[in-house]
Amino acid sequence: MSSEVLSFDAAEALAGAALRAVGARSEAAAETARALARADLDGIASHGLSRVPAYAAQIRAGKVKGDAVPSVTRPADATVAVDAGDGLAYPAIAAAIRWAASLVGRNGIVAAGVRNSHHAGALGLFVEDLARDAGVFALAFTNSPAGIAPAGSGTPLFGTNPVAFACPMTGRDPLVIDLSLSVVARGRIMVAAQKGEPIPEGWATDAQGNPTTDAKSALAGAMLPIGGAKGAALVLMVELLTAALTASHAGFEASSFFDDKGGPPRIGQLVLAIRPGAVGADAQAVADRVAAITARMLAEPGVRLPGDRRLAIRARQRRDGIPYPAALLAELRAIAG
Ligand code: NDP
Repeated sequence: MSSEVLSFDAAEALAGAALRAVGARSEAAAETARALARADLDGIASHGLSRVPAYAAQIRAGKVKGDAVPSVTRPADATVAVDAGDGLAYPAIAAAIRWAASLVGRNGIVAAGVRNSHHAGALGLFVEDLARDAGVFALAFTNSPAGIAPAGSGTPLFGTNPVAFACPMTGRDPLVIDLSLSVVARGRIMVAAQKGEPIPEGWATDAQGNPTTDAKSALAGAMLPIGGAKGAALVLMVELLTAALTASHAGFEASSFFDDKGGPPRIGQLVLAIRPGAVGADAQAVADRVAAITARMLAEPGVRLPGDRRLAIRARQRRDGIPYPAALLAELRAIAG
């Protein structure tokens, strides 16, 4: 498969042009293009420009409203409720992050909910921004269309529901932990199915809920959560923090992020920000403590910090550019016109 290397700026510009060409308003296209290019820069290709053709098809079909403008209400001093209006998720999340950053100073803690939303991509980017720019501990959650079954069942009801965390740390970039709650991304099972290869036991169950190593049967079944029944409980927790708390669709009610069929997915996101200094130790002491605790971890042979692999990829690709499949770039250029 041939590939072409793009700079970050070129990748962002191409994604923005493609989204504007199908009717995304300028700010929504810009926020979306930036988030997707940032995911690619960090090596998270499954949440990068590869999503643009699906977003474009959904905007064209009206499943995603390209002209939606997020609306913000302030139900309490320390809370924000953003309605994404069935548009792309990124402008709505950007609004939630801006409000969280501006309110956390005087409130100490802020909760920002986003409803009627869509695919939020690599969730860690948003909490990283909050930790770096506002100096806070930040958590973000999103639900997603059904892929994981509750413990005891083989019927997928809930999403892979990622959780992201970031906090400031003395002497370096914020620590970022960003993980989905499935053992592996569904995309890896799709690749195995395309190649006709088996998958390891423990990744998925078939349509009857039995463990399977057959990739095609797995696609008809459910993804397995990390950590067995406890992981399935975490999936439920995230589902309730997002779908229930923000009045959004649950995984089993949400349409696919990948095609233009059905109505808008209308899933939800929740962002929490906690200001160090508001819960005990002052901000510098907290950042020092994070550095000391992680330094003790790193003193063990073979240990690295979560997020450091992505930072290394980011530094390398900022210098050398981001490799993209030529076919994807041709598709995006055709959409951009
Ligand atoms: P990974 O399994 O790649 O990584 C999960 C976390 O564990 C990362 O913080 C990673 O750090 C860390 N980690 C992994 N191995 C080690 C190690 N040996 N030592 C220390 N830390 C380690 O991520 P996922 O596949 O679960 O998720 C990928 C992305 O997909 C995320 O950005 C997530 O938000 C996104 N996603 C989005 C969805 C949506 O609907 N919007 C749905 C599902 C996923 P590092 O990255 O540095 O390796």
